[in-house]
Amino acid sequence: LTWEAAVPVGLRRSPARQDSLRAHNLALVLQQIATSEALSRARIASLTGLTKATVSSLVDDLVQAGLVTELGPEARGAIGRPASALTLNRVGLVGLGIEVNVDYLAVCVTDLAGTARYLRTRIGDNRRQSPGQVLGRAVRMARSAMDAAAAEGLTVAGLAIAVPGLVEAEQGLLRLAPNLGWTDVLVGDFLADRLTPPGLPVLVDNEANLAALGELWFGGHEDLAGFVHVSGEVGVGAGIVVGRELFRGVRGFAGEVGHVSVQSDGPRCRCGARGCLEQVAGQEAILRAAGLAGEAGTSMGQPGGSVAELLARARAGEPRTLRAIHSAGHALGIAVAALVNVVDLDTVVLGGLYTVLEPWLREPLARELSERVLAQPWSPVRVLASRLGPDAAVRGAAGAVVKRVLSDPAAVLGSAGRRGG
Ligand SMILES: [Zn+2]
Repeated sequence: LTWEAAVPVGLRRSPARQDSLRAHNLALVLQQIATSEALSRARIASLTGLTKATVSSLVDDLVQAGLVTELGPEARGAIGRPASALTLNRVGLVGLGIEVNVDYLAVCVTDLAGTARYLRTRIGDNRRQSPGQVLGRAVRMARSAMDAAAAEGLTVAGLAIAVPGLVEAEQGLLRLAPNLGWTDVLVGDFLADRLTPPGLPVLVDNEANLAALGELWFGGHEDLAGFVHVSGEVGVGAGIVVGRELFRGVRGFAGEVGHVSVQSDGPRCRCGARGCLEQVAGQEAILRAAGLAGEAGTSMGQPGGSVAELLARARAGEPRTLRAIHSAGHALGIAVAALVNVVDLDTVVLGGLYTVLEPWLREPLARELSERVLAQPWSPVRVLASRLGPDAAVRGAAGAVVKRVLSDPAAVLGSAGRRGG
């Protein structure tokens, strides 16, 4: 590998250097507007080091493309051209997020400022069904979300789908979803073929990855520098974030904490191995250990569902339920301690089902962490409950689309130009 190969793509010399410089500056200006309340052109110029004329021209393009809106002139500047404050356009482009999980589907529309404008969840067991059936339902939910967005004057800039398995993001390919029994599903193509307009960008990613990003972007945490977000569902997945960036591993498969062995001779997992974390601390395993039905329609939020019953029993102090959750917390602690020892993280965020079980999981989990994490005496690992709970992945999916728009506004300008001409 040469040094050249390690330079970020945007910085490489190319014949289109002027174009890429402008693209870079558009992103720079938009980032300033996104991270501040209301900025004037002059203030952006002083923050970025660009000339006022350049900033004005870039801002005009961003306003034209519907990414930025002017709040109107400030009356104070009596002399000269009044300064008008700039902010992200909340009634322009939006991101559409979809989540396909083992026992529910969800969709979310998020505006450029990160506000969820539409969020729907549909509980229902997706196992023993073809990918076409399940994804077909997700497409119908996505169409309803797009109609709702259009009714508010919002335009979907792209969509991202969160799926529970190994994803090859470049091809939009779901390689393996053990709990759904799916292999090699071209999820990206399926959606692109059925959702209009044609050419709408489609991202496919692992649900635990998107849940971690959702928590990072929208969870309202002040200081999440290095954390693992563990999503407890039927499967157990983790998203690892270091320095505000998702750690994906070499092939994008990082974070499969559900298949870390916590009992070398434990129950057989759907992946073929024995004693995987999700066979001991996954949703079905906890329900079974508590004497409740682990099958269909168990997701939280469903009145009368098994998870609602589990919570009611835990609150009532029912001993078998408490033992089941405790033993899940113990197993979770073993797996998470291994992860923390290897990767060096300071925070564990409990997501999905674990969010609502946090009051009972905390003690056994913290005990395993304090016993097993070598650095614990000097840098104790924090345990937090997710602020987004089961919505984290679908919020992260919609957010990923928005983040892409904010980091590369030139792509939006380009496609707006093509649409116009
Ligand atoms: Zn496994």
